[in-house]
Amino acid sequence: MPTDIEIAHSVKPLPITQVAQEAGIDESYLTPYGFDKAKVDYALLNSPEHADSISSSALVLVTAINPTPAGEGKTTTTIGLADGLRRRGVKSAVALREPSLGPVFGVKGGAAGGGYAQVIPMEDINLHFTGDFHAIGAANNLLAAMLDNHIQQGNKLGIDVKRVTWKRVVDMNDRQLRHVIDGIGGKAQGVPREDGFDITVASEVMAILCLATSIADLKQRLGEIVVAYTYEGKPVTASDLKAQGAMAALLKDALKPNLVQTLEHTPAFVHGGPFANIAHGCNSVMATRMALCFGDIAITEAGFGADLGAEKFFDIKCRMTGLYPRAVVVVATARALKYNGGVAKANLNEENLDALRAGLPNLFRHVQNIKDVFGVETIVAINHFPTDTEVELKVIEDECAARGICVSLSDAWAAGGEGTLDLADKVVAAVRKTPAPVPAFTYETGSDVADALEAIATKIYHADGVDFTPAAKRQLAELRENGFGNLPVCVAKTQYSFSDDAKKLGAPEGFRITVRELKVSAGAHFVVALTGSVLTMPGLPRVPAAENIDIDDNGVITGLF
Ligand code: ADP
Ligand code: MG
Repeated sequence: MPTDIEIAHSVKPLPITQVAQEAGIDESYLTPYGFDKAKVDYALLNSPEHADSISSSALVLVTAINPTPAGEGKTTTTIGLADGLRRRGVKSAVALREPSLGPVFGVKGGAAGGGYAQVIPMEDINLHFTGDFHAIGAANNLLAAMLDNHIQQGNKLGIDVKRVTWKRVVDMNDRQLRHVIDGIGGKAQGVPREDGFDITVASEVMAILCLATSIADLKQRLGEIVVAYTYEGKPVTASDLKAQGAMAALLKDALKPNLVQTLEHTPAFVHGGPFANIAHGCNSVMATRMALCFGDIAITEAGFGADLGAEKFFDIKCRMTGLYPRAVVVVATARALKYNGGVAKANLNEENLDALRAGLPNLFRHVQNIKDVFGVETIVAINHFPTDTEVELKVIEDECAARGICVSLSDAWAAGGEGTLDLADKVVAAVRKTPAPVPAFTYETGSDVADALEAIATKIYHADGVDFTPAAKRQLAELRENGFGNLPVCVAKTQYSFSDDAKKLGAPEGFRITVRELKVSAGAHFVVALTGSVLTMPGLPRVPAAENIDIDDNGVITGLF
């Protein structure tokens, strides 16, 4: 099998103007970025004709079981499914996140799908793309500069320099910048303070861009960002610093979704990439709306396993936007099931039916959650790896069938749309079954943060309850006092387990969740609850993927996957 980038290079992309035209996007809304990428103006979402086509189309969410460290193929399945639907004559479109440079140079080496299910031009999408993340970084850092300048110029707002919460960002896995002391060098060089950097995708500006529905909404939300606290403990916002206008100006183009195509020329809106951890982990609302606008079925992905990704997709994104999926695809792999059954990462390629069976309760719990809590039809997509054995695949299929779970073997990676025809048929059937889904959430809108957390922990994780550290208890009291106590909750938790302990695999029971920090993202309109140790600035691994990335004299890039 050729590498991902070799496969991507073997396909000649259609001009993006043609992809747009075939999708029905009027060229007056299109700003081409070269030959095969374009920005699409969100103004089109406001035209009455397009509003109708959004509400009549079906949204399908792709999520997964708790993964192995390698990822389970959600993006690959999302893209392959859209291509499979198209082969069946269904007008489909994809909405995906943009990759961050951090993981591209770290472990992942790319995030534009894999095998014969990719979005192209994959090297551009993986490296800078249309510059959205740089714009987000600039807007974030402008706010940081204005904040420190305010302190330097006399600090009229009375900002407590020990309680500055806003950090500068860079789109790189760079642990060296996690903790820094800046503003040193004397009176004219700023006010010295302990500081730190986050990765750009962890910036609240990223989360805001992905939830914003217009420039006015973007500006409003940017202004609401809490950047620090005063000596009296009152929140200081970006609008107190008069920063939101200039920040929004920097984001003018970044706010427009990017249009590209799959290897089979299905339109793909690739836009925004909030961290799946301290943010909600799915592409922009505008990109999802565009996929619904130009596809009768729109397929989108939520980061990490369903306990984190799907929960936030429903409880944050769907709640805030009125969007709601008509079917959920839960991606499972024999590898991840064996991993959940206790097999070490190094031995995942060996057949092990006992471990596979021991891991299956993880899958069943995710499927049951989506049915019980959100009331949506689910289809299990077994993402077929070359190392899977026939017997392993049969065990998964039989065990699902025995429980009445709809299941399909997906060969998106090896065969693109041709490999997902059965999955496409099952998705179409599921979508037809629920023409008008009734939105349901894990907790009611306006619930107290502590109650929302209790609901997520018991209904989704199947924990016995939630404990707060003394620091988190103080923060909870402060959030309530400042009027943030009833926002939706965005949980930051390990992606490997239903619990907050990465080692509790499968379908653990008899555990509690410990919240050690609560932090408001006032512009994104959620409260982040941190469990375990969560890094907002990742580091590079021992052997970074960057070591294998290269470019030749003709400008051809290699080593992305
Ligand atoms: P996720 O979106 O769940 O993180 P991706 O779709 O990005 O996962 O896939 C993760 C990696 O695994 C990619 O490098 C992809 O090429 C590879 N991959 C996905 N599915 C398969 C498969 N069926 N066989 C082999 N490799 C696969
Ligand atoms: Mg992905």
